[in-house]
Amino acid sequence: MEEVENKGFKALSDIFKALGFPIRVEILKILEKNPLRYSELMRTVRLDRFNDAGKFAYHLSKLMENGLVEYKPENKIYSITTLGKDVLNLAMSLFESLRRKENVLLVRRTDSSIELFERKRIEECLVREAGMEQETAETIALEIEERLYSMGVKYLTAPLIREYVNAILLEKKMENYRHRLTRLGIPVYDVSELISLKRSVNDVVSEAGEEVMRQYAFLIKLPREIGDAHLSGIVNINHLANFMFKPEETINSLTSLNLFKTHSYIPVSESPLSFRQVTWRLIDELNNSSLDANSIIIDASNPELFKELLLSIAVSCGKWNIVLTTEYEPLMLELLKELEKMAGKIVLSNISLSLAEYGEKLFEEETADKLAKYLGSGGALVLYDSPNMTPTYHFSILRGHIEDYVRSGILGSISLNLSLMLEKASLDIDVFLEALDETVSRIMDAFKLKRESLRSIIDNRKIPPLSNTVNGDAYFIIERGLTVIELTGLYDVAEKISNSQETSDNVSEAEKIFKRVNENVSKNAGKNHRNIISLISHSEAVQRFRRELRTVNEEERINVVPRNIPFEEWFKLESRLKTLTPESNIIFLRNLEELKSLKRNDKTGIVIHNPATMCASCGKIYPVTEESCTCGSCSRSFP
Ligand SMILES: [Zn+2]
Repeated sequence: MEEVENKGFKALSDIFKALGFPIRVEILKILEKNPLRYSELMRTVRLDRFNDAGKFAYHLSKLMENGLVEYKPENKIYSITTLGKDVLNLAMSLFESLRRKENVLLVRRTDSSIELFERKRIEECLVREAGMEQETAETIALEIEERLYSMGVKYLTAPLIREYVNAILLEKKMENYRHRLTRLGIPVYDVSELISLKRSVNDVVSEAGEEVMRQYAFLIKLPREIGDAHLSGIVNINHLANFMFKPEETINSLTSLNLFKTHSYIPVSESPLSFRQVTWRLIDELNNSSLDANSIIIDASNPELFKELLLSIAVSCGKWNIVLTTEYEPLMLELLKELEKMAGKIVLSNISLSLAEYGEKLFEEETADKLAKYLGSGGALVLYDSPNMTPTYHFSILRGHIEDYVRSGILGSISLNLSLMLEKASLDIDVFLEALDETVSRIMDAFKLKRESLRSIIDNRKIPPLSNTVNGDAYFIIERGLTVIELTGLYDVAEKISNSQETSDNVSEAEKIFKRVNENVSKNAGKNHRNIISLISHSEAVQRFRRELRTVNEEERINVVPRNIPFEEWFKLESRLKTLTPESNIIFLRNLEELKSLKRNDKTGIVIHNPATMCASCGKIYPVTEESCTCGSCSRSFP
């Protein structure tokens, strides 16, 4: 018995001796992964075939003598034995515990706690977040641990470990897993830049958050094609950060808002003070519920509610469009009186006032005077003839009955950079049109995804006022919603394609492009999917396209309004274009003078906008186009 034991100890000590050189452990580790031929093995341990041949042969023979490695003459390969595997595992865990003893690795987590590094956590993360198989995760985690220890760092942070894990996954060409493990965020330098550039700390926080959401949209939410089209500047997904989560504009009526009173979590009270509080909270929540603006149609239900709403809207930061039909003329006078009261004290550039079926009354002295004051304070005025139209803040006119849009709105918009598309098609019209077709169908795919995403967001009550249920259904009705495709640079492109000085030639080219997009939209639109083709683009899109075109071609410009055409002429042409789509834009005038130069046009609505600002030193409201206030100060308290 004792003899057997002694023999065992002898073998054990021989084995430890056999492991006495790092290169021998290295050989075992390599053979554990793959059996190899002599020359392959030698190369893998990074030994030189000529200079190290003797050394290598010696070490290999020691491993074989002790039964850790075996040679199979039939296929000339070396492989690790079962004993070899056991010994290697034992050696590795000994190695690990020794290393741990002297090299403690601490991790600072994002929740500010410090703990010992644990390989298991990486393993779990690879399985849970990246969807990796347990076995692969174990191997990778082990390797990561070895590498981290060998770097000799004492302190690690959770984000750093993640970066390191991702680097290793990249190295191993495990792109898919790395993709899912990515940390979204922005570099320290960029945050410092934001702090120095932004107007307020809140803007910094929201911009930083939006950047994360934009990255999330690219990584997870958007199909790759449309994401690439956005990145390359062919399209601009307006409000990208929240594109999948919020509608762009909601359309409400006084009557529909009353539903909130009867069905909502907002406490209702008849006492005037509480009534005001309820209104303010409602406006605040609606401002947060949409990306751009909200529209409210005044349908004469409750004058008290209407006055309070107007006040809350005027002092809120959200943009609102107030829609009124002449049917409610007494209310209009009331509204104008309220607006006049405000006009001298605050800049009203967040309110546009829309008058449906406007008539002679509007040009009577008393009314015109009030309107001029309101416009002087920065408000915008939208006029249109038909009672069956609803203008929204972005001055798209929605034809059809107002009820078709209430409790819904504009779901989202994407701008097309036509100038860049033509540039990329090297001015070849056929190539251009083909690219146009393809891009439009991608846009329609993105809208489809947006609808689905919005549905789940609203069903999950993530937008409190819009998710609020009315008789079992959500307040916001996605089916009624519209999407918008903006044709940015249409006139420039038409001019280039027609290559003519004649305005009528250019417009007929513009018409062709417009019709092409229209056809494509109806081909790709799902059932009940309503879409507007707009000639007015979001300023975020126009500004971005201008920047990008300049890097392609110094001379390039995007013009929202065509050049070299007298204003009246352009107005006529644009009106014609707009008859091509059932839901159509309206004409944008920059001031009252331009309005005077026009005759009434019953096909089109008219917007008059005269942006104003407030002097930071004397408080006077004056047009933004003026360089300074009459008091001499240039500083403005309103952007
Ligand atoms: Zn001043």
